[in-house]
Amino acid sequence: MSLQEEVQKRKTFAIISHPDAGKTTLTEKLLLYGNLIRSAGTVKGKKSGKFATSDWMEIEKQRGISVTSSVMNFPYNGYQVNILDTPGHEDFSEDTYRTLTAVDSVVMIIDATKGIEAQTLKLFKVCRMRGIPIFTFINKLDREGKEPLELMEEIEEVLDIETYPMNWPVGMGKRFLGIFDRHGKQFVKFNGNEEETYIPYKELDQQEELVDQATYEATKEELALLDEAGNEFSLDAVLDGKQTPVFFGSALAPFGVQTFFDTFISMAPAPTPRKTTEGVVQPDNPDFSGFVFKIQANMNPAHRDRVAFLRVCSGKFERGMSVKLARTDKVIKLSQSQQIVASARDTVDEAYAGDIIGIYDPNAYQIGDTLMEGKSTYEYDELPQFPPEVFKKVAAKNVMKAKQFKKGIEQLVQEGAIQLFRDKRTESYILGAVGELQYEVFQYRMKNEYNVEVVFETIGDRIPRWLKPDQKVDETLYDERNMLVRDREGNFLVLFKNEFSLNWFKDKNPDVELIDLFEVN
Ligand code: GDP
Repeated sequence: MSLQEEVQKRKTFAIISHPDAGKTTLTEKLLLYGNLIRSAGTVKGKKSGKFATSDWMEIEKQRGISVTSSVMNFPYNGYQVNILDTPGHEDFSEDTYRTLTAVDSVVMIIDATKGIEAQTLKLFKVCRMRGIPIFTFINKLDREGKEPLELMEEIEEVLDIETYPMNWPVGMGKRFLGIFDRHGKQFVKFNGNEEETYIPYKELDQQEELVDQATYEATKEELALLDEAGNEFSLDAVLDGKQTPVFFGSALAPFGVQTFFDTFISMAPAPTPRKTTEGVVQPDNPDFSGFVFKIQANMNPAHRDRVAFLRVCSGKFERGMSVKLARTDKVIKLSQSQQIVASARDTVDEAYAGDIIGIYDPNAYQIGDTLMEGKSTYEYDELPQFPPEVFKKVAAKNVMKAKQFKKGIEQLVQEGAIQLFRDKRTESYILGAVGELQYEVFQYRMKNEYNVEVVFETIGDRIPRWLKPDQKVDETLYDERNMLVRDREGNFLVLFKNEFSLNWFKDKNPDVELIDLFEVN
């Protein structure tokens, strides 16, 4: 098979949702279709008592949640599917955001009984910023939830994206009869615990058993309304991230999952060209290239290894190949590579643009690093830094351990899950992370890997705003409520206590320009 054909087969995506919307349940169903697992209930340790596919670290085992993202991959319908797992817990981290830089599309799950929730909104904004195509699965149709039209309106208004319902439900909860599959021109009948059945539109009139005629007729009216007044389907708009195809179903039943997945896989984009410092690189460029979007240590505590997750962006990866690390211009041999599939770590011998591989990291890589083959030199667009939301002062419990403390903190910060700042006045170390959980991971790793016990002093949620590099920094810029700190590059930022103090500051200092790194609040 040619390189181009291999690349065109790749479908690399992540599933995003608010906790409890049904991401694990849906993922399991997809893995079942891909024959990757034999029974549902094996993905999340929390419920089954078994370890999750993605729960590697000790801390994850203890808490029964997935802290870091991993990758599942399997062949399906002639495609090669790569699903990137994102932490579902509410204390999610930058890892979740970063994972979204390594995918080509996203499935957004919405709980029909709840509508759009806080975390869905945050993750959606990251996708929007990066122009990632988004497919929506509205879950839990087997329960009484919000009306389908109301949900469509909510998506359009809150997320500001056009919707196109790919199917339309008939009733919900106890009255749930099935869905009109507008795309496949068939009625998919819900049969409770039995498997769903498919009835082509043209045979529908003969289906006497579709009783509860009132609900059925009402739905037909809604459908007519959608056809007449709704948005027109446009694959171009979908691929531009301007329209989201919406599927209704139930991940648990499962119902509507198969038609959703088949349609999604056929429409989801294959790897697209990616921006670099030297212009755009095509995925079927024969020279291998990729970037590191995540580094994880201690996946195997016995070996204390570090694994860098690499998104292949062009060409073909082969085990043992030598590549150049763009940042340092050094040549590195990629001998130990692995694909992270289910609970086993299989060695991969080859991978293509679109694939994700885990490579052994001899402490050489940083998040955002570009690896490449060939003569050219370029780097993939810098990964965005996401503004931390929770801040804490950190110190070594035992002052004698200052040296290890510094070393540990420097290395862990380099991995990128947590950011380091120094207080302007006291020079104390301040950590910032997207979620609370990162602190537990940090504390655990400082103890286990660097033998330093750390203590935190809570600062709490803060709103960080950067100052322009030429801004004169003096006492007038900070007070008890607003801390002035320096990031690792030496840029100053103010940590505002709340929205009120931010606005107060703006009123008081109209000439000071504040930079919001990235709007995900
Ligand atoms: P996650 O936190 O997003 O991974 O959510 P889970 O997949 O763990 O699901 C959260 C809860 O919702 C679990 O109790 C599931 O059994 C339940 N659930 C998931 N999908 C459905 C569905 O389609 N219908 C109903 N009634 N419950 C569901």
